[in-house]
Amino acid sequence: MGTDTDLKVLIDRLEQTRTLSREEWSILIRGRTPELAEYLFQKARVIRIRHYGRDIFIRGLIEFTNYCRNDCYYCGIRRSNGCAARYRLTEKDILACCESGYRLGFRTFVLQGGEDGWYTDDRMTDIISSIHSAWPDCAITLSIGERSFESYRRFALAGADRYLLRHETFDEAHYRKLHPPRMSAAHRKQCLWDLKRLGYQVGTGFMVGSPYQTPENLADDMLFLKELNPQMVGIGPFIPHHGTPFAGKPAGTLELTLFLLGLIRLMLPRVLLPSTTALGTIAPDGREQGILAGANVVMPNLSPPQVREKYLLYDNKICTGDEAAESLKSLNARMKSIGYRLTIARGDSLNI
Ligand code: SAH
Repeated sequence: MGTDTDLKVLIDRLEQTRTLSREEWSILIRGRTPELAEYLFQKARVIRIRHYGRDIFIRGLIEFTNYCRNDCYYCGIRRSNGCAARYRLTEKDILACCESGYRLGFRTFVLQGGEDGWYTDDRMTDIISSIHSAWPDCAITLSIGERSFESYRRFALAGADRYLLRHETFDEAHYRKLHPPRMSAAHRKQCLWDLKRLGYQVGTGFMVGSPYQTPENLADDMLFLKELNPQMVGIGPFIPHHGTPFAGKPAGTLELTLFLLGLIRLMLPRVLLPSTTALGTIAPDGREQGILAGANVVMPNLSPPQVREKYLLYDNKICTGDEAAESLKSLNARMKSIGYRLTIARGDSLNI
């Protein structure tokens, strides 16, 4: 095993059976070449167009707090980063974001933040039900980390439809190299199963090229995605942040991220696959390339302009160009130039 032809056979088999063994995943990831990637992307595009056409779903991302009780070694808003200028949005601020987002054409609002205790279950449910009653035709997505089953249940009752919680890495030993001891891969996964049980449309995922990551780790991540069968998978390159313990670590690559996007499209044909902000940060046309590798979602930034640069998960995060929600027109023009178009819709997953 290992020549391009052998690896093409693996890709063909993945396309037909939608699964590979752990060993095959690592061989494929380790042995990838530009030619093989092109072979993969062609298939990924066909599958994506079969299920979602050339439409790209948009989500309005509202980064409503950068306070966080966690201390993840990679993340710029970790508790120990004393240089981060902290902010919280009020319910009124958040509703104003939704208001302008709705006018721009967003039908999904993603509330993302650090794990901030100020937003108790009561406060969160107030915010969720206000959005739900003001824009009943919109989907509400939460991305606020690990909470209890009971909290997740209350958020769902208040009107939350979806939840994004990347598993970050399947492997417990690798997970512990990225997080302080009080966090665990097992708990993160438990949260994902809880969310599924509660009927959420669930998104998970991981960083590509996170420190110490091996092809075997990625193989485990693929197997976990297969098992969880989420509605959405968010992956993006790890990018160092100067104020974290991983400041000096190398960033993940565009090339590996695109290859994994293609593999995920073949494994889970109907899944929602965002072309992430991190991808757009490491290359000027990163998000277009993500779409051409099989992605079908973009998440422009709907946060109030004055807080955008404070929600800095990694260095140089783009936030004022075409990824800003106000620039939908130019984002659409960019997507049209590669043969796709943004669409105004809730954009529910076909992977159910
Ligand atoms: N606190 C929430 C969501 C906020 S962070 C949670 O725990 O889910 C959203 C995602 O950004 C994380 O899941 C992580 O995968 C990604 N991220 C954080 N730091 C990053 C970095 N330095 N480079 C790339 N992605 C990063």
